[in-house]
Amino acid sequence: MTTRQSPDHPSAARRERVLREAVQRKLLDPEQALLAAFVDLDGVEASVTALHRAFPDSVHALHTFAAKANCLVPLLERLRHLGMGCEVASPGEFAQALAAGFDPARIVYDSPAKTRGELARALELGAAVNIDNWQELDRVDALLRTRPSRSRLGIRINPQIGGGTIGAMSTATATSKFGIPLADDGNAERLLAAYRAHPWLTWIHVHVGSQGCPPDLMADGVAKAVAFAEHVNDALGRRRITGIDIGGGLPVNFTDDTTDPTYTAYAERLRTHAPALFGGGFRVVTEFGRSLLAKNGFIAAHVEYTKTAGGRHIALTHAGAQVATRTVFMPEAWPLRITAHHPSGAAKYGDPVPQDIAGPCCFAGDLVARARPLPLLEPGDLVALLDTGAYYATTHFQYNSLPEPAVHGFTVDPDGTVHFELLRPAQTTDDLLPAVR
Ligand SMILES: *Cc1c(COP(=O)(O)O)cnc(C)c1O
Repeated sequence: MTTRQSPDHPSAARRERVLREAVQRKLLDPEQALLAAFVDLDGVEASVTALHRAFPDSVHALHTFAAKANCLVPLLERLRHLGMGCEVASPGEFAQALAAGFDPARIVYDSPAKTRGELARALELGAAVNIDNWQELDRVDALLRTRPSRSRLGIRINPQIGGGTIGAMSTATATSKFGIPLADDGNAERLLAAYRAHPWLTWIHVHVGSQGCPPDLMADGVAKAVAFAEHVNDALGRRRITGIDIGGGLPVNFTDDTTDPTYTAYAERLRTHAPALFGGGFRVVTEFGRSLLAKNGFIAAHVEYTKTAGGRHIALTHAGAQVATRTVFMPEAWPLRITAHHPSGAAKYGDPVPQDIAGPCCFAGDLVARARPLPLLEPGDLVALLDTGAYYATTHFQYNSLPEPAVHGFTVDPDGTVHFELLRPAQTTDDLLPAVR
């Protein structure tokens, strides 16, 4: 992968400006702050606006943010102020969403392994719940017999339409662990019977996959859910299913600064595959994560040393598997753009030289890029790992007891003034020493 980045692209200039400012304010420091993550809060707002604009006003839609993509409470709070709901999939994410002030009615609880206690709490607070399997359906039924709930309740179906380019991200394969497989023997009939028997079941949920699933595949999965909802409503003679949760999963372009596909393009695919979604008969929930955050964040790290081995240039930096776990372990599936900077943060120019960009972890595969053509890096320089606003610094891997880096939000005034806001402090060594005696 090469970094297609023109120095005059506005995003590149903006990152350079922010990096210079971060160095000046010692948010990046060769002793005290070896690496840090940055989130463009103006960019997040623009992405949220683009999502809301992609769906016509005639559709009653609740757009939730998939907390696992970036679960920092101050960021969730900001997304709430921008009009988002929140999708959670664990007690921890649920607690973070509540701490960020989300009304439980605007929280959607998805997880394939919800305990009785988790379900009871979600039902008590009135969070929407998407039921993953038959056994969970029985549990919810038993809980509702003891105590009614205001929660919107749905079933996650697996439309079994196949996977995308990344197996681990594809949730609609024939044998996926998620949801009730719609095409398996007897399931369509059994689902219809469940909707007939349980008047509280009023939603249907589908999430085809994340990165690597083309929009047409995702829209096809949504179409299967919509068709099944209409089948249920026809068979039961009334609008029993009132809402479709279409999940998230819009893929992100990791090769340059353009946003492709856009929410508008995806909404057009949905209109083609599942026109009834826009007919006004269903309420809609979305659960996007990566497409809202990935391109609005980057990680910057110092180069500690440089060397050559077997003729290969290697830069030993402070960003490796602890913050770029997927990229290090599955480099073909998760390549990242990297830019080179002087110690001041200024972009580095020069003839590209193939270099391995290595992390600090003690295993040989800890490389965020192999033989990447970049201006030759020197000790003290900075590297920036682009498009890492989702699923990177906030899904930390605690290898070698490396601490979580700080995450700074930023905004830039029209006159170029940069404002930083701490979203998460860096872990200290003391934080790694819990008081267990
Ligand atoms: C992960 C996940 C999402 C978000 O996926 P993105 O690719 O980040 O948009 C939404 N819904 C469910 C059920 C998920 O598991």
